[in-house]
Amino acid sequence: MKYKMAIIGYGGMGSWHAENVSSRIPDITVKGILDIQQSACEKAAGLNLYVYSDLKELLADSEIDLVTIATPNNFHKDYAIALLQAGKNVICEKPVTMNVQELEEIMEAAESSGKIFSIHQNRRWDKDFVIVKNILEQETLGKPYFIESRVQGSRRAMYGWRGHKVNGGGMVLDWGVHLLDQFLTLIDSPVVSVQAHLFNLYSDEVEDNIKILLRFQNGVSALCEMSTNCLINNPRWHISCTDGTAVIEDWSCKGKLVKLKADSEMAWSEDIVYTEAGPTRTMAPRPEYTTEVLALPDVTTDWSDYYQNIVAVMEGREALIVKPEQALRVMKVIEKVFESEDSGKGIRCLI
Ligand code: NAD
Repeated sequence: MKYKMAIIGYGGMGSWHAENVSSRIPDITVKGILDIQQSACEKAAGLNLYVYSDLKELLADSEIDLVTIATPNNFHKDYAIALLQAGKNVICEKPVTMNVQELEEIMEAAESSGKIFSIHQNRRWDKDFVIVKNILEQETLGKPYFIESRVQGSRRAMYGWRGHKVNGGGMVLDWGVHLLDQFLTLIDSPVVSVQAHLFNLYSDEVEDNIKILLRFQNGVSALCEMSTNCLINNPRWHISCTDGTAVIEDWSCKGKLVKLKADSEMAWSEDIVYTEAGPTRTMAPRPEYTTEVLALPDVTTDWSDYYQNIVAVMEGREALIVKPEQALRVMKVIEKVFESEDSGKGIRCLI
């Protein structure tokens, strides 16, 4: 083991980091945790993790090379800055901060410390996302023009601290940040407008159902939607491209591509067709012989590449994959999301 790591916030995600890093990243040992809850500390001690009594003790531990922050969102900034100033490399859970200004303060601290600061945008390693990336990079269906990405649940209110504004709760900072990060990774063009519809349906303080529409300078538009009250789900992804359509149904990545055949303009009748929609030429179904159905591309992906990259960056072998500048772009888009909701209008921008 070359490096020792600590975790601040040993709840759902903090214990996930501990388990997965210990079992999958041979170069890192998880030494200990810091948490304000007795039950979290007892659980960690029961698993032979060292329990720091306070932040000062953790900052002074010269064995620690890397700290992952997995507290509620309002604590990310202060911990990140203190850790960087103490010479630790830092991974912060998403959303990196509550707003753009907090992230800029962290980036200044990272710059002056010369230490690594990265954000755990683990959904860049999700299989469904890597499939979409592959389809767009290979231009399998031509050029994309509209990408829809949805995550839909039905338990209504946001859980625990996620329901409180002071903690940085709400669906935009919870799931929105993942799906926006995915869009900004997929589409290599500035965002030129943001339109949001945010609903506080079941939570007193925060939005729990959201729809965000982005327009990119290269002509691609993207819609992300997260709901807590959906009883009949749409597909996880629906992608419209010039030469075909792709659908990924769910997290298990069932789905297909339907592509126009190269000679898809092969003759068909220009006569009106009598369909269930009534007589029509435009909306009449395309003859099946002009299309082909393809399987989704076969991809391999492994979330542990995130931590492998951090090790490689510590050793000067690779550049950081999830960079603070990328998180800053996402946070800038998020500020436009709230501006759009407050004003009831689409917001023009260049992000
Ligand atoms: P959680 O409530 O399960 O755990 C939070 C832990 O932090 C608790 O043990 C709590 O006692 C502790 N804590 C609270 N305030 C603290 C403080 N000031 N100092 C130290 N410890 C403190 O929450 P969670 O679901 O694990 O979320 C934690 C973070 O991880 C959030 O930023 C969340 O957005 C993120 N998260 C990311 C993913 C992902 O897929 N990347 C998934 C879930 C959560």
